[in-house]
Amino acid sequence: MKVLVINTGSSSIKYQLFEMPEGRVLCSGLVERIGEEMGKITHKQLTESAENVFKEEMAIADHKVGMQQIEMLLVDKVYGVLRNADEVSLVGHRVVHGGEDFSSTTQITEAVKNKIKELAPLAPLHNPPNLVGIEASEKIFPNATQIGVFDTAFHQSLPEYAYRYAIPKDLYEEHGIRVYGFHGTSHRYITKRAAKLLNKPLESINLITIHLGNGASMAAVKNGKSIDTTLGLTPLPGLVMGTRSGDIDPGVLFYLNETLGYTLPEIKDLLNKESGLKGLSGENDMRGITERAEKGDKDAQLAIAVYTYRIKKYIGSYIAAIGKVDALIFTAGVGENSPVIRALSVEGLEPLGIELDTAKNQNRGGERKISTEKSKVGIWVIPTNEELEIANQTYELAK
Ligand code: AMP
Repeated sequence: MKVLVINTGSSSIKYQLFEMPEGRVLCSGLVERIGEEMGKITHKQLTESAENVFKEEMAIADHKVGMQQIEMLLVDKVYGVLRNADEVSLVGHRVVHGGEDFSSTTQITEAVKNKIKELAPLAPLHNPPNLVGIEASEKIFPNATQIGVFDTAFHQSLPEYAYRYAIPKDLYEEHGIRVYGFHGTSHRYITKRAAKLLNKPLESINLITIHLGNGASMAAVKNGKSIDTTLGLTPLPGLVMGTRSGDIDPGVLFYLNETLGYTLPEIKDLLNKESGLKGLSGENDMRGITERAEKGDKDAQLAIAVYTYRIKKYIGSYIAAIGKVDALIFTAGVGENSPVIRALSVEGLEPLGIELDTAKNQNRGGERKISTEKSKVGIWVIPTNEELEIANQTYELAK
């Protein structure tokens, strides 16, 4: 069965076509700069032995035109794999914010679309384009079942004492201000993989999952369910990120406004786009920061110290939240590729039963254990695969 996975941004559509249940990728691609003067399409047809790549620059007026291009490439004689678009049975859509309404994968209906629209104020950069992607896909693939997979869904199992903020309760009851958490599809995927790799039933696995990409978050997973997470109402709190501050005293916002004269939009920009690694070191890419730190650059060294100290503090607090932890799991761009960040994040945690094998930590590629044999808590690297998780969930719901 062919399952198309769609991840729509404000000016882009990322897609992968899967053969399910095998989970084999048949085609993948990216349509970008939608609505700009010149757009760009990159499409790959993947066979067992080769990648057949198509690239083109052309104006792409809107998401519907983008989706049409994807359909044409999927059925193309040279670059495609389908005879016609009706072969796509299911389309799985990444939707960022599902609020309290969606704790699992859901078939898209008019009511579901209205809910996604209602939740737009909580994710203004993501939910509106996600909805545009769904509507374009309904037109281009009218015979496929459209399914929504929500980034927030995995964290709907948080207990109330973990998801409530200590602010007047009306703000929660009337306006939904609470912790929602994000990156749920990634945390869920690595939780399921970890259960397989550790040979434990999903229902009894206890993990601390550490997703370190350009955005970053951690989750405390108890008995296979998320019981706490570092992102909140918005994707701003918690860990230090590429350009986002992570945790900060809310009083800083008043000081910026009242004493230094920053406006609210300026503060929003400052905390979302100019802070995090970029704020501390001048750049947001951990590769460059690591290289500079090795050469003695003090700002880069400090950025790494703040970044890894924050992770370490959350590891400690999540051990307290979970009790007995089976493993820490590192994933995403930094988590999968940076031995130095992994090492510094767990340095000194040996008294808590967390012992890194420094040689194994240097190994590259694939799912791998990097803790010593006697470490009570395992340490693993598990590459995330959000698209495959969306395909799996879409397939499971529909079968
Ligand atoms: P993601 O959002 O998961 O694609 O992660 C992107 C981030 O991963 C980039 O901004 C880089 O900072 C980081 N990254 C990728 N490769 C490496 C590497 N070899 N060492 C350190 N950081 C890396």
